[in-house]
Amino acid sequence: MCRHLGYLGPPVPLKDLLFDPPHALATQAWAPRDMRGGGTINADGFGVGWWPPGAAAPVRHRSAMPIWTDASLPLLAAATTAGAVLAAVRSATVGMPVVETAAAPFTDGRWLFSHNGVVRGWPSAVAAQARDLPVEDLLTLDAPTDSATLWALVRGKLRAGEPPAKAVAAVVTEVAAAAPGSRLNLLLGDGDRMIATTLGHALSVRSLRDSTLISSEPLDPGPAWQPVPDGRLVVATAGRVEITPL
Ligand code: GLN
Repeated sequence: MCRHLGYLGPPVPLKDLLFDPPHALATQAWAPRDMRGGGTINADGFGVGWWPPGAAAPVRHRSAMPIWTDASLPLLAAATTAGAVLAAVRSATVGMPVVETAAAPFTDGRWLFSHNGVVRGWPSAVAAQARDLPVEDLLTLDAPTDSATLWALVRGKLRAGEPPAKAVAAVVTEVAAAAPGSRLNLLLGDGDRMIATTLGHALSVRSLRDSTLISSEPLDPGPAWQPVPDGRLVVATAGRVEITPL
């Protein structure tokens, strides 16, 4: 199952999240410590997105290759700083394609989105939820995967004007009811705030005075990391985290 992270705070080089910490995202790709529900490594692609100051939309780089094989990324990650980052490494669910467009983060406008987990019985289990979407949204899915379907469901609610935390919580609740046993750790960000859920997978937060880091697994052994219990909604800005039951 994939690993993902989101950062909000003072600008840092991307390498401070992707490569440098002892358990950075690139390390979690080949040596994850807490993969629940199958999967051993996250070698089926990766994506990193960040919000440059003043830009209308985030920049995203993704690939179908393992993160450690991208020879350009370490230098790019050393030279690029950002105060808002969302990144993921992927372990494809059996039967789902290993293609660049299936790698999170997915994007729309200012939003970036990632899913860590699986929708049991996809796609038929969530056909009723998807039926509410405009047919154009289904015809232009990034990839035929459960994660891209979840993004279409969340995006549909965002476009309809629902507050983001409500949209994310509603999709998790509805999909969990329609597809029991699903694992639904979602992560959504717009550069100013992040919304995350825990349902069936690991997640930790590190909230410092002026920064917040949310990650499937802690990046370092520092004492500020707190595990998020299962079944929670996390709403965060830089330095502020609220955790409530889903
Ligand atoms: N099931 C999704 C996919 O295959 C999410 C990846 C994961 O968490 N393993 O794309």
